[in-house]
Amino acid sequence: MRVLVAAEGPVDEVVLGMLRQRVGAEVTYKTFQSRGIDQVLRLATDVVRAAHFGGFDLLVIHADADDSPPHQPAHVEARCRVCRLEACVATAMPTLRDIGRASPLRTVVAVPCQSTDAWLLWGRDDGAPTAVEQRHRHDVKRALFGERKSGHEAAALGWVGQLRDRLDRGEMPPEALQRVVLAVRR
Ligand SMILES: [Zn+2]
Repeated sequence: MRVLVAAEGPVDEVVLGMLRQRVGAEVTYKTFQSRGIDQVLRLATDVVRAAHFGGFDLLVIHADADDSPPHQPAHVEARCRVCRLEACVATAMPTLRDIGRASPLRTVVAVPCQSTDAWLLWGRDDGAPTAVEQRHRHDVKRALFGERKSGHEAAALGWVGQLRDRLDRGEMPPEALQRVVLAVRR
């Protein structure tokens, strides 16, 4: 399976890169020139096109929820990042020219509540997924990285193995990560 990952930041790429080791997916990164949610939203349509025409099986679009409202099925919430990204995908998909793909592009929106750091902390510690997700993202970041301002990617790489191990043991991960795991397994 070929997976295109479009993530908001470098630590997020490290975390989503675990898909490679865990399920044997070939992971390619769509790296943005600048980082952050605005860039992801602005370029989401281009990313969908790149994934379709590049012959990828699955597109994973990531943005942290930060302090935006949590997604709920069937709600109408203009600030919800899941809704915003899914709307971008829904707009782009019908515009894609048929290029004789064996199967249509699949997409999954990966929006952790509040940041992918919570996924790492869940992997490292034995916390319940919901409790970890509900901690403030700044607390979570401090729990992981302390006061360090650099070296986050290298540290994350170390914890990704623990995250993968917990998934391999069949433990139920935070909800947003579960969406990604299920999409890749299909
Ligand atoms: Zn929503």
